[in-house]
Amino acid sequence: MAEPFRNDKFPVRLADGHEVESVYYGSGTLCISSQAGCAVGCPFCASGKSGLLRNLSVEEMQLQVDEAGRRGHRPRRITLSGIGEPLHNPAAVARFITLSATEGLPVSLTTTGHPLARLEEFLHLPHNGLMLSLHAGSSALHRRLVPHGADFEELWAVLERHWPLLSRRRRRKLGVNFLLLAGVNDGSAELQTLAERLRTFPELTLHLLTCNPVPASPFASPPDEAVAEIHARLAGQGINVRRPNPWRVRLEGGCGTLLLRRGARP
Ligand code: SF4
Repeated sequence: MAEPFRNDKFPVRLADGHEVESVYYGSGTLCISSQAGCAVGCPFCASGKSGLLRNLSVEEMQLQVDEAGRRGHRPRRITLSGIGEPLHNPAAVARFITLSATEGLPVSLTTTGHPLARLEEFLHLPHNGLMLSLHAGSSALHRRLVPHGADFEELWAVLERHWPLLSRRRRRKLGVNFLLLAGVNDGSAELQTLAERLRTFPELTLHLLTCNPVPASPFASPPDEAVAEIHARLAGQGINVRRPNPWRVRLEGGCGTLLLRRGARP
């Protein structure tokens, strides 16, 4: 049995033989998967390389929580940020969020925002955080990095429409994920375009992420000094921005590399 309070990445085998992976962070957050495979096709992601295999049921999401318990962990919060696009499995994910919330286990999720109609519903669910994975400041780059995600302009339009309907506390639960990719989206023009959009949503948190190394992938994150400079520049402009969590990379956590060793790693 794993020691409690330590970082731990573990596979969970489903009844039909598919496997997903979950990551327990010693801080008390358990990251679980909502699908086997993924249909979004982000080019930097190894987890979704084979496309979508199938959706997970509520019980299969709970199985990952139970497995964490069997390994000696006591998660205090859950994030649906593992393999899969949660909004492509909306009924099971919504039910899992609601059930967990009633049991005192708050659930956050990471999503590309596709489909937008589901995003509009999920903004108002009792989630503990909803992170929009955009990775771009412009529509053209967003289309390249999140190919089967939501339309970039329409996504911002949804946020604008729902912003006045959300309390300040709920607005603070929303964020934008930006995976820094050297030479792709880390230029000042791209980041400046995003910064200008974010100014309209002052409570929105920008989470900078660094890339999990994937062998044979052309994508890599900029060096630490460049990441620190980007963070300082955005913070200096009044953007509510967070530094990357180094454990996400050290553990190969996050949807980019889960199941890499047994699945997509070349
Ligand atoms: S990064 Fe996430 S949303 Fe994109 S393909 Fe991978 S699992 Fe899907």
